[in-house]
Amino acid sequence: MAIRVLTPETASQIAAGEVVERPASVVKELIENSLDAGASHIVVEVSGGGLKLIRVVDDGQGIPTAEVETAFERHATSKLTSSADLERIATLGFRGEALPSIASVSDLELVTRSESEQTGVRVHFRGGALVKKEASARPQGTTVQVANLFRNVPARLKFVKSIATENGRIGNLVTRYAMARPSVRFTLAIDGRNTLSTTGSGELREAVSSVYGADTAASMLNVAIEEKGLGSIQGLAGPPTLSRAQAGYVTLVLNGRWIQDRRLTYAVEEAYHNMLEVGRRPVAALLIETPTEDVDVNVSPSKAEVRFKRDREIFALVQRSVRQALVESSPVQSTSLSASRPVSSVGVPLQKRPLASDLLGWASGPRNPEAETPATPSMFTKTTLPLLRVVGQVNNTYIVAEGPDGMYLVDQHAAHERALFERTLKEMSEKRVQIQGMLAPVTVDLTPVQKEGLLQVAESLHGHGFDFEPFGDNAYVLRALPAMLSGRAPDRAFLDILDSLIDPSIPYETDERSAASIACHSAIRAGDVLQKEMMEEVVRLLEQAESPHTCPHGRPTLVHLSSSLLEREFGRR
Ligand code: ADP
Ligand code: MG
Repeated sequence: MAIRVLTPETASQIAAGEVVERPASVVKELIENSLDAGASHIVVEVSGGGLKLIRVVDDGQGIPTAEVETAFERHATSKLTSSADLERIATLGFRGEALPSIASVSDLELVTRSESEQTGVRVHFRGGALVKKEASARPQGTTVQVANLFRNVPARLKFVKSIATENGRIGNLVTRYAMARPSVRFTLAIDGRNTLSTTGSGELREAVSSVYGADTAASMLNVAIEEKGLGSIQGLAGPPTLSRAQAGYVTLVLNGRWIQDRRLTYAVEEAYHNMLEVGRRPVAALLIETPTEDVDVNVSPSKAEVRFKRDREIFALVQRSVRQALVESSPVQSTSLSASRPVSSVGVPLQKRPLASDLLGWASGPRNPEAETPATPSMFTKTTLPLLRVVGQVNNTYIVAEGPDGMYLVDQHAAHERALFERTLKEMSEKRVQIQGMLAPVTVDLTPVQKEGLLQVAESLHGHGFDFEPFGDNAYVLRALPAMLSGRAPDRAFLDILDSLIDPSIPYETDERSAASIACHSAIRAGDVLQKEMMEEVVRLLEQAESPHTCPHGRPTLVHLSSSLLEREFGRR
């Protein structure tokens, strides 16, 4: 093929790919424009995962009629005048790429009125070309409406995940900006559902409350630190007891921009060192301010990544700010891990253990004899594990057992998880799920992302024995949960399981994944000291499992050291 210069249309679609990867990136660019325009109220509405419609309405300064077409030219911006400005960027946008990029891959309508003008103007672009321009009445501010996103770019459409996933990403994004800019009022509606609304009072704690709920917000500790010349950090960090099972609850804002920075997130996690239980993640929202000339935000078109001139010092400052808040709030909590583990994973003091079977998930509700002596023959016929005799425990993690041919090391968590996983699926398919009603219902606050996610997995969770219903805009009341989880804090178990089901990187849920998650959160953990009868119970359950060799995540449940291997190792053969 001969070398040819691309048509402007093709060139701009290619460039658009860098800026608008998915619906959430369109929402991000539009919100950033509204913030740069000084808006105090931003309304975001989406439908069909953002592919059908995205509308962002602001009360910012608007665009003068004479400039509105220029705004859609590539590299047209009101935010930079010379390359020297690149050294100190104070606005969120500056590349002048968003509007032309979005317009080239959608049907875009923009209505705006600037402060100095009497009437506003409406422009309509289709596939990047202006199809209509007319006067239009509007209060000061700008509305951008993006319809049929990516319809003319089938290749891009293919990479867009399910609508639920895109909704989750949009919810996540608006949520982060709501925390990044507490003085701006944000309203988000997804498919007509009011998903988030903040007050715009300027109080971070209030914004966090709209996102994570009032209880969470109230419990968070103040973070405040300043180092002359380097920067300052204001924010909120959860006490160690507020931890979550999943990452993603640390929000970092740099000079008003939500950033995703692995190292700084790690700095926050480091601050909790030895305070959180193993595998738990912190909750925090930190607003970092540094001199604009000390950061480079022009690293990638999406501007989510930044580079710091003094990155080590910033890392240390972040860590110190959170650590300081934690230590000041409770000096005793920093002792060690064991301090946070005085009780077993099922919430029963280790010294006063009831029957082993109680700890293994039959603590309440009527005992189900069938569950203890499996009725289905398949459970026996498929069993491939021999009978094992428990010898002891190693590292509070592995059960040592003897079998007909040598020694077995059983991973106590993985083994228990496997057994509970199969039981959950079986009970579910036979419609005899063991449910634990709660004496007093508890309310749980959900984030917009969790709310959207719950809509997708609600049916499956109901099927597994969770009983819950909406309670106001942002909360649910929880009335019952799978009996297996009894002994756990119900709200925490519910949120942990929900979070594990709505990880946006994994497609939405089947009953198997709910079962795996319930099993994972019910099972005894690595690190739990087990008495002999408990170990015997775990081993017995594993012997009865249909696929005893791996946990639901595919990791091995046990390691076999055969008699002949032992003999060889000891030079007996
Ligand atoms: P950038 O934000 O990088 O300047 P954009 O393509 O996003 O580039 O926007 C181009 C220009 O259009 C902006 O510089 C700004 O002047 C104007 N603009 C876009 N959105 C808005 C808005 N919501 N309110 C006021 N002006 C806007
Ligand atoms: Mg912009």
